[in-house]
Amino acid sequence: MTNETAGNTTLFTKIINREIPADIVYEDEHALAFRDINPQAPVHVLIIPKKPIATINDITEDDRELVGHLYVVAAKLAVQFGFAKAGYRVVMNCNEDGGQSVYHIHLHLLAGVTMGWPPFANHQPKQV
Ligand code: 5GP
Repeated sequence: MTNETAGNTTLFTKIINREIPADIVYEDEHALAFRDINPQAPVHVLIIPKKPIATINDITEDDRELVGHLYVVAAKLAVQFGFAKAGYRVVMNCNEDGGQSVYHIHLHLLAGVTMGWPPFANHQPKQV
């Protein structure tokens, strides 16, 4: 997929600015959460910072609280949706091998099904 960092905006900025619609389930000063358009589990919510950080590689010390806050939101939503005790998965993909397609960091909050492990389809390791 295309790296959309040009101008530091992606379609997620448009969702924050209400320029394109989304099923928003949570919002505060620093974060927004909305349902994934192509859900991979019965519950699939994306939790994003309002600050557009492209990838995990671009997270700095200054972002520590903000990134931690995304997990606080995930935990709150798990209680609100009622799957905190049963369990869930929170994942952030990074770049091509990590499966990232939108270059504005986001937590995937996945629940409502028993997860598998490991989370990759191709078991052939790359030369690293
Ligand atoms: P990534 O592949 O970057 O880890 O995750 C991006 C996610 O954004 C994907 O799960 C994809 O389905 C979701 N997505 C892409 N475009 C839209 C959109 O316009 N609206 C919503 N709600 N989700 C989107």
